[in-house]
Amino acid sequence: MDFKNLISHCKEYGFIFPSSEIYDGLSAVYDYGPYGVELKNNIKNYWWKSMVQMHENIVGIDAAIFMHPKTWKASGHVDAFNDPLVDNKDSKKRYRADQLIEGYAEKIEAKIIKDIEKAKARFGDSFDEKQFRETNDRVIERQKEIDAVLARLAAAMKDGNMEELGAMIQEYEIVCPESGSRNWTEVRQFNLMFNTQLGNIAGEEGKLYLRPETAQGIFVNFLNVQKSTRQKIPFGIAQIGKAFRNEIVARQFIFRMREFEQMEMQFFIRPGSEMEWYDYWKQTRLRWHSALGTDPAKLRFHDHVNLAHYANAAVDIEFEFPFGFRELEGIHSRTDFDLGQHQMLSGKKLQYFDPELNESYVPYVVETSIGCDRMFLAMISDSIREENVPDAEGQDSVRTVMKLHPALAPVKVAVLPLLKNKEELTKVATDVYDKLKVSFNCQYDEKDAIGRRYRRQDAIGTPYCVTVDFETLENDTVTIRDRDTLVQQRIKISEISDVVSKSVAMDNLLSR
Ligand code: ATP
Repeated sequence: MDFKNLISHCKEYGFIFPSSEIYDGLSAVYDYGPYGVELKNNIKNYWWKSMVQMHENIVGIDAAIFMHPKTWKASGHVDAFNDPLVDNKDSKKRYRADQLIEGYAEKIEAKIIKDIEKAKARFGDSFDEKQFRETNDRVIERQKEIDAVLARLAAAMKDGNMEELGAMIQEYEIVCPESGSRNWTEVRQFNLMFNTQLGNIAGEEGKLYLRPETAQGIFVNFLNVQKSTRQKIPFGIAQIGKAFRNEIVARQFIFRMREFEQMEMQFFIRPGSEMEWYDYWKQTRLRWHSALGTDPAKLRFHDHVNLAHYANAAVDIEFEFPFGFRELEGIHSRTDFDLGQHQMLSGKKLQYFDPELNESYVPYVVETSIGCDRMFLAMISDSIREENVPDAEGQDSVRTVMKLHPALAPVKVAVLPLLKNKEELTKVATDVYDKLKVSFNCQYDEKDAIGRRYRRQDAIGTPYCVTVDFETLENDTVTIRDRDTLVQQRIKISEISDVVSKSVAMDNLLSR
């Protein structure tokens, strides 16, 4: 399914709505609807259980969004959490300078691809792309240009050299995609943190930030948690919560939002053991994704070449979104940077006494950080598809189905009386529904023909539909239809709960 249709599906079926839509929405801010909130909660639940419940040395917290302003000075966000901003004076549109330059390099790559396609058509089966890339003069020249542009960009970004970025935009004659003009302002640093003002303190002193990541709430609580739970290193602290970033260009639906949710875990370890734990968390996190049945071809690791100021190793787990491979989760070896900084600015010791080594030290940290909303988008885009339904007729012969893992599905089972106006059927169906709803998120639906009702459940990813028909009245059996195989089985009413719970239980994911 293409991306545009996926977005409309999310709205039509109550997964995601644009924020304050009656006022034409607020850019890059979204609300989760009735099915969206269920799916999102299930994702969070899976993450939380796999971290906190499955590791005796990981505990959770829920820190406040507001933190002492010095937190963000210590973490480096006040000085360094910037993107290079440039405005086009004609269109009045804002861009990230680095993205404009990357776009320029992508255009050269597109020319290479065109050459490759032409050559492929000419040489047919005997065409060898690798050889062509290595020997064709024009392609070699273009590749050299791309490499030079990207190397120059990386150097300018590393040095925070805004003039150099401006010079590149001029030199490469990059135009505004909107106005086509080259009438640019200077490139300047733009801090991505939102801020607000405390009511009782005027001026800079009272300036508060909306946290741009949840991690710092964990760092500043490191000793509180360690002492109150008597954890020994290595141990971790997990947190799920909102984060805010004033992204300059926010597109691609819920992939890049200004208000979003993170699921982060900071793992505190002995200095020197970080590579071992980094590898452990890389593999553990990939397993977490694979357990959901995500297409393995859509997941990959991407090592960071340019490391952030706090990291000595970093990798992304990338997912192939409808617009290409992009970061879904980050795993970072953060050294003792954060605790060290907080120790310095607060003047409070943030050390751990290691009884085995008989010494105190500032622990090192390996973090795993995943955006809940990006995970949501990954799950929707991996699972949604359009399919023909054999044996169905007319409009109902094509279905849009979300093949979500049953443990994540918003509704686990739908109970449907075959006919609406037969009280003997609706009575039994209501009884079945009332029993099941104690254990599962269920839905009772009697409106429209049965085929139409199945389509509605497919569209929201309900793994099971239970139909109460005339045979039910004779022998207490119902049909239970499997979303993925479309197979309908007759089972006893008393067996429904077992069948459903076997497949929707979170244990299926956690025991992998
Ligand atoms: P990107 O390079 O895509 O901006 P990032 O490297 O800045 O991401 P991190 O700071 O590592 O991201 O944040 C950890 C996770 O939080 C990311 O892997 C992503 O899933 C999520 N995330 C970050 N920014 C956003 C955003 N604006 N909207 C939604 N999720 C986000």
